[in-house]
Amino acid sequence: MEFRTRDGIARAINGVSFDLHQDETLAILGESGSGKSVTAQAVMGILDTPPAFVTGGSVTYCGTDLLTVDERVMQTVRGAEISMIFQDALSSLNPVFTVGWQIAEMFRVHRGMNRRDAEEQAIRLMERVRIPAARERVNNYPHQFSGGMRQRIMIAMAIALDPHVLIADEPTTALDVTVQAQIMDLLKELQSESHMGLILITHDLGVVADVADRIAVMYAGRLVEKADVFDLYRDPAHPYTLGLLESIPRLDQQGERLNAIGGLPPNLTRIPAGCPFHPRCRFATDICRTGEPPALLEVAPGRRVACHHYDELLGRHRLEADTGLGRLEPDTGLGQRLLETHDNGEEAVR
Ligand code: SF4
Repeated sequence: MEFRTRDGIARAINGVSFDLHQDETLAILGESGSGKSVTAQAVMGILDTPPAFVTGGSVTYCGTDLLTVDERVMQTVRGAEISMIFQDALSSLNPVFTVGWQIAEMFRVHRGMNRRDAEEQAIRLMERVRIPAARERVNNYPHQFSGGMRQRIMIAMAIALDPHVLIADEPTTALDVTVQAQIMDLLKELQSESHMGLILITHDLGVVADVADRIAVMYAGRLVEKADVFDLYRDPAHPYTLGLLESIPRLDQQGERLNAIGGLPPNLTRIPAGCPFHPRCRFATDICRTGEPPALLEVAPGRRVACHHYDELLGRHRLEADTGLGRLEPDTGLGQRLLETHDNGEEAVR
């Protein structure tokens, strides 16, 4: 998938293949500009053409490639089958309508309910996402709620039609840590009630440690590592994943400088030759500057990585003690496969 811009063609998603099962949480991680949100928007079919052009690949939901269906079909998929929570609740909610009206609209438009029944459903949903005094607050406007409560309203709208897949794009950004934890708990609770597949998009590894089953790490529009959460946190195989993990602030490092990955992600219209990460990678050698690493090689059961030197990292950077994530336990119980994306000619991978 590419954006055709005045500065050139930006290959925003390239070779991104993953699947998602019922009851499963897949976290897609990476810095801003790595292609996470664009991937989600491509799945939802909400990218504007132009400038966005899907040049290949597939998004398979219940046996149908969503990239081949027309907008009329996608309107029945969005919200009812695959739903999305967007990054910024304040700008996603309409400031001139009450929250109850906006939630009830889902039922009026998609289920043909009358105004009174739709409002009752809205109140029930507000209660389900734990908004206190929902009946009294149903006619309040978005600005009358706190950031955390607005995010709950967005979640209520996203789950209104009982979707099978929920994509949450940075659902806790700009919230304080306590509210972040409450929102993540709520998402997990709703998932276990309705058996949704959950895709969690975030730049923050700290947020997903307790909730994700699998993690896909993106850089410059590509997947660079994919693994079960337990394996990835304990033993990252890609230098970029290692850098992200080392960037998590630690309580035992008070007064010290925060670790950070030097440099910036590349401009996608001018991706460097060789491995796109090489200008920032402390493990880079000559081959990294000239040859692109093979896409997601299976290096261990359930582990895929795109790096020339993965074998030098795997098993040598165990971070369990450092990150305090020793409580993570592998969980392989998966439900039915719901969603699958893959690039041209590339086998769908787990
Ligand atoms: Fe670093 Fe080379 Fe691996 Fe790229 S291929 S991540 S530059 S070691």
